[in-house]
Amino acid sequence: SGLTLPTLLERTARKYPDRTALSFVGAHTSYRDLWQQVQRFASGLQKMGVQPGDRVSIMLPNTPQFVVAFYGTLLAGAVAVNTSPMYTPSELEHQLQDSGSETLVILDTFYPRYAEIQGRVNVKRVLVTGVQDALSFPKNLLYPVKARREGTWVTVPYGERVLSMRKVIDSQTPTPQPVTVSPDDVALLQYTGGTTGVPKGAMLTHGNLVANCEQARSWMTDLREGQEVTLAAIPFFHVYGMTVAMNLSVLTGATIVLIPNPRDLNMTLRAVQQSRATLFPAVPTLYNAINNHPDTPKYDLTSIRACISGSAPLLLETARKFREITNGANLVEGYGLTEASPITHVNPIYGEQQDGSIGLPVPGVDAVVAGDDGQIVAPGEVGELWVAGPQIMKGYWQKPEETAKTLVDAHGRTWLMTGDMATMDERGYFRIVDRKKDLIIAGGYNIYPREVEEALMSHPAVLEAAAVGVPDTYRGESVHAVVALKPGATATDAEIIAHCRELLSPYKVPRSVEFRAELPKTAAMKILRRQLAQEARDARA
Ligand code: ATP
Repeated sequence: SGLTLPTLLERTARKYPDRTALSFVGAHTSYRDLWQQVQRFASGLQKMGVQPGDRVSIMLPNTPQFVVAFYGTLLAGAVAVNTSPMYTPSELEHQLQDSGSETLVILDTFYPRYAEIQGRVNVKRVLVTGVQDALSFPKNLLYPVKARREGTWVTVPYGERVLSMRKVIDSQTPTPQPVTVSPDDVALLQYTGGTTGVPKGAMLTHGNLVANCEQARSWMTDLREGQEVTLAAIPFFHVYGMTVAMNLSVLTGATIVLIPNPRDLNMTLRAVQQSRATLFPAVPTLYNAINNHPDTPKYDLTSIRACISGSAPLLLETARKFREITNGANLVEGYGLTEASPITHVNPIYGEQQDGSIGLPVPGVDAVVAGDDGQIVAPGEVGELWVAGPQIMKGYWQKPEETAKTLVDAHGRTWLMTGDMATMDERGYFRIVDRKKDLIIAGGYNIYPREVEEALMSHPAVLEAAAVGVPDTYRGESVHAVVALKPGATATDAEIIAHCRELLSPYKVPRSVEFRAELPKTAAMKILRRQLAQEARDARA
C-alpha cells in the first residue's frame, strides 16, 4: 500500500480525532492527543540530534508512553528497537551494543539495570518516564503509582544525558522536521524471542509492518472501523502484540486498552469488563490461565467477540472453555514468527476452522512444505514450512551469514525458512508438527515434544506441560516431562505416566515427571522448553 506506520496514525487521527485511542488505568487519550504527543516527541528527538536511521531502544511495558515513544521514533525517521522489560543488565547490554542504540527510552523502575552497564554501551541520551513523573505528568500519561517496584524508590540522576520524557514532550511543538521515509526503510529491530541461541535483530520495514496489520485486518471480516475496543494484554515489545494489539488498532481506529502486567489476571479481567473490550488477541497460556482462574466467573466477559491465539499451539479444550466463559467469542488459532512481522497463517474466523491446524496463509502469503532437498513435498507429508510475502523481514541486522541461512531463493522467489516442521492437507490447511530443533530422538525414533505435551495437557490436573529430551545411555535420549498442576489439583508421576501410556506409543511416553509450581516463560508468555531441557540435562550431569 506504500504507507508508513506514522501515516496510519495520522490518517486515523484525522478521521476519528475524538475517538479514545488509549485507555490506561481509567485515563483516556484521544487519537488527536496521541498524534500531538507523537509529533512533539519526534521534534524532541530531532532537537537532541537523533537522525533518520538511528536506533532508539524502547524499554517500556504496555503504557501510553510506549505508543508515543514508538510512533514518535518512527516519525523522526529513526528505527525503534523493542527491548524487553524483563532483560537482565547483561541482556540489555548485549542488545544496546548489537543494535548500536545511542538513545534509550526507559521506565524509571528499570533504570538501575541500565545504570549497571552504562559505562559499557554507547548510549548518549536516556529518556526516563514513570513514577517519578507521576505528579506532574499529564494525566493521560500517568504510570500507576502503585506499580510494583524493584526494591526501593529509584533516584534517577536527571541531567544533560538523562532527561525526563515528559519534559521533552512538553517543551516541544508538534512540528517535527519532515523526513523522507519509504516503506522499504527499516522501522523496527525486533530481537527474536530467545528460546533459541543468541538473539538476532530481525529488520522489519514500514512496509512489512503495515502489510501485516492489513493482512490481519482482512481476516476480521466484520471489523467495525472506529468502534472496536482491543484489549492489549500481550506486550508491544514483542512483534505479535505490536502488530495485532497496537498497529492493527491504529489502522482501524480501535481503542487500545493497555494492560501493563497481564500476569495480574484480576486487572486484565476487570479491564475487559470496564472497557467492554471486543477484541482480545493473546497466547494460549493466557487464555488457559483465565479459564482456570478462580475469580473468572465474577467478571462479565461477554463483550469479547473475536480473538486470535498465536505463538504456541492452542488446545481445543482451551478454545472451547474460553468460548464458554465469554458466551461465544470466536477464538481461532494463528501462526507466525518474528521474522514475518509475525502473522503468516490464521484460521478463518467465520469460515471453516480446522482444529489443531494453524489455518490458511493470510492474503499475499505463499507457503510451502519443503523436504530436506528443498523440493516441495506432497500433501500430508512432513517438511519444513517456508513462507514468502510482503511481511517477511529484510534480514537480520548486521548478520549476513544468519540471513543467508534463513532467507533462501528457490522456486522463483525468496522464502523465509521457519524452522518449524509442518504438513499441508489437500485443502491447503497447515498444521505445525513441532520445531525442528526441539525434536527428541529416542532409540532411533523421532519424537515431537508437542504430541507428548498434548497428552500431558489432557490430564485433568495438568495446567502447563513441557516435554524435553534427556540423555539416556540406552536410547540416546528419553522423554522427560515437566508439569505444573491446576490450582488445588493433585496427581502423582505414576498417574501422569499411566495417562500418557493410554494415549501414546510406548517410545513417546515420558520416563520421568517433574512437578513445578509454574513453568518458566518468555516475556511473551511462551514456555521456555529449551531452558527446561537444559536444566533437566544439567540435573543429570
Ligand atoms: P526464537 O525464535 O529465538 O527461538 P521465539 O520462539 O520466541 O524465539 P518467535 O518468533 O517469537 O520466537 O516465535 C515463533 C515461533 O513460535 C514459531 O517459529 C513457532 O515455532 C512458534 N509458534 C507460533 N505460533 C504457533 C502455533 N500456532 N502453533 C505452534 N507453534 C507456534
